[in-house]
Amino acid sequence: MTDPVLPGATLGILGSGQLGRMLAQSARRMGYRVHTLSPATDSPTGQIADRETVAAYEDLDAIERFARDVDAVTFEFENISSAAADVAARHGPVRPRGEVLHLCQNRWREKHALTDAGLPTAPYEAVESLEALSAAIARLGTPCILKTAGFGYDGKGQARIDTADDAAAAWAAIGRGPAILEGVVDFAAELSVVAARGAAGDQVDFGVIENRHVDHILDVSIADAPLTDAQITRAREIAATVMEAFDVVGVLCVELFLDQNGELLVNELAPRPHNSGHLTIEACPSSQFDQQLRAVCGLPLGDTQRQRPTAMANLLGDLWAHGEPDWAAALSAPSVNLHLYGKAEPRPGRKMGHLTASAPDRDEAVRRVQAARAALVRPLNP
Ligand code: AMP
Repeated sequence: MTDPVLPGATLGILGSGQLGRMLAQSARRMGYRVHTLSPATDSPTGQIADRETVAAYEDLDAIERFARDVDAVTFEFENISSAAADVAARHGPVRPRGEVLHLCQNRWREKHALTDAGLPTAPYEAVESLEALSAAIARLGTPCILKTAGFGYDGKGQARIDTADDAAAAWAAIGRGPAILEGVVDFAAELSVVAARGAAGDQVDFGVIENRHVDHILDVSIADAPLTDAQITRAREIAATVMEAFDVVGVLCVELFLDQNGELLVNELAPRPHNSGHLTIEACPSSQFDQQLRAVCGLPLGDTQRQRPTAMANLLGDLWAHGEPDWAAALSAPSVNLHLYGKAEPRPGRKMGHLTASAPDRDEAVRRVQAARAALVRPLNP
């Protein structure tokens, strides 16, 4: 184990989106300096960082120079190559390790690693050709979902297959490349566990969060999910198993399905803070970003106990369709908090920010956060 990276030191973040922004906010609060590297300028992270380096992730010389100037490196964008992580690791700690990143970048590797760790997933098969796809559909049955093995998120690179006749169209839709075919889970709920593991193997998690999606994009997250004690224990055990099996130092989110029999299945992993964990900023004494900072810097982890029922609602670019949202209206309830990511262009489907609301109970927290989001939309002029 290396020495802790203490306040006053410089944290390097590969990637410059909202996850890096909120990590940078935690880091600056704790007295760290922050550098970020990405191809973007005036980025969500760059606006908070001390230094914003503009370079391609493939530019290994730029990554090397960047790593030389910082005391520890982490990433907020998971499609960083192993080569980039290796180059950075020559100059100091990279957390989580490049191997964890590599594993989570590819659905084949991730699924096989989950199976090897004895963890339950939806039934799946790896496919590399249309013939293999047709054979896999015959074995798994329909409905099923074809997903590109490589990078994909928020339902991108996916095609649903309802009958065997859909095979060719689905194969074309995902670009005819290496893929995973998965059985469709008739889920009762989608859940996540955001966990952190320190350099000494110490672990914490934020309990089980319930997630509701619209068009494959996270819409609302609620702490905590209404599960039995046994289900909560099982979900947390799954997260702990993943963290240990993959030797993660940092934060990792396990996305889960709760099926109709009450069983938990792992959908996918994100080796970093997760959109569903944003509510921890207001709901917990030490947020997912605080934990990431502490873990990456080799410091003891903080208190993850949820203080109040809290819900989060994403703000997508669609909310700007009729002009600037009515921020004052959304904030008229004092329990509502606004986070905006500093993105200039509000494109449809783009995550621009989020709201959180806390309340005496979870249903009221959901009601408040949804009412606040609805209040953002100004009535159209007659
Ligand atoms: P992913 O990018 O794999 O997380 O998928 C995005 C969303 O698609 C998930 O949050 C689910 O709502 C849905 N989805 C993905 N895989 C499955 C599956 N095997 N069965 C049912 N729904 C799925």
